[in-house]
Amino acid sequence: MKLLEYQAKDFFLRAGIPVPREKLVLSPKEASDVAKEIGLPCVLKAQVGVGGRGKAGGVKVAKTAEEVATHSKAILGMEIKGEKVERLLCSEAIDIAKEFYTSVTTDRANRSLVMMVSPAGGVDIEQVASETPQRILKLQIDPLLGLQSYQTRRAAMFLSDDKEVRKQIISILNKLYRMYEANDLSLAEINPLVLTRKNKVIALDAKVILDDNALFRHPEFETYRILSADEEIEQEAKSKGLSYIKLSGKVGCIVNGAGLAMATMDLIKRFGGEPANFLDVGGSSSPEKMLAAIDYVTRDQNVCSIFVNIFGGITRCDDIARGLLESTKGSPLKVPVVVRLTGTNEDEARSLLEGTPFVPAADMADGARKAIAAARDN
Ligand code: GDP
Ligand code: MN
Repeated sequence: MKLLEYQAKDFFLRAGIPVPREKLVLSPKEASDVAKEIGLPCVLKAQVGVGGRGKAGGVKVAKTAEEVATHSKAILGMEIKGEKVERLLCSEAIDIAKEFYTSVTTDRANRSLVMMVSPAGGVDIEQVASETPQRILKLQIDPLLGLQSYQTRRAAMFLSDDKEVRKQIISILNKLYRMYEANDLSLAEINPLVLTRKNKVIALDAKVILDDNALFRHPEFETYRILSADEEIEQEAKSKGLSYIKLSGKVGCIVNGAGLAMATMDLIKRFGGEPANFLDVGGSSSPEKMLAAIDYVTRDQNVCSIFVNIFGGITRCDDIARGLLESTKGSPLKVPVVVRLTGTNEDEARSLLEGTPFVPAADMADGARKAIAAARDN
């Protein structure tokens, strides 16, 4: 899991790596409040998962209150490499004397960890690596022995001639390494690590990637996961015992069992339609589950019709029918709903739905065709 800068800075703070005073904001209004607190000039930084946001215009220095307003408005509205900017980090502006690059990652080929440092920090380390590789120092770290003091001394000497600066760099490299190890990271990177004009070394940017295979050892890291609106609904549905996955078509599908869900989607495609989702209410479906299922599917604005395809085994068809009727109690159906029910208590279910707006289907193929036609007309 790749963290955003402001989340990665949490790790830095806990590790004791110095960072600028800064705060996450979500609106231009909040940005101007925080800018007052932090002081001007300040830096506004788009919080996105993709790299190179500085070059894309996602990092701007604001010298006045007006600039805070215009920059925060511009950055919060922009898209960087397809990612919409929804969060902004408002950060104390730093007077930079030098920019370094530092990172720790795993070197699988050498079965070790590797620390990389370069005096050519800033925005494009890939370019440094390809054009002037001698400006990057790579240190292999034996995972059993850990980072050695001769290594951090060598790294610090590679970056600076100043004794006081080297001391600060050594301390930061040790903390970066310990942070990497203690949290099972797969990357910890500071680019740039800067030397300020007041001779302080401080991490201006932060990149942290958590090792997904080790997440079970750190359940608290789940709070860093940022879900898209669709993923949030999927998670919510999961907590109610429904497997719901949003797709891009117009025919909503409510079925029981993953196999039947697949078959239903195949059939809809076969007859020229596009499923809007995959929703499996599971076995032993109660009227409440059915009600929730209808709710999730109709929340999707793309849905123009729904195909309810249930094979009653443990699930009783009359339960499904009761759930469907319940869903129309408060408000009428927003889209046509085609229902195919077969198996346990199907006769009872059919008579419950008789004379209601639910459209009965004779079999699966008939239901799929009717739902596609209804979506087309709706
Ligand atoms: P990235 O482009 O996504 O890596 O964003 P960074 O946070 O690394 O910032 C990119 C560049 O913006 C840095 O290398 C700096 O040159 C510049 N920058 C960022 N913050 C400051 C600041 O506080 N003061 C100054 N002078 N420059 C900054
Ligand atoms: Mn950077």
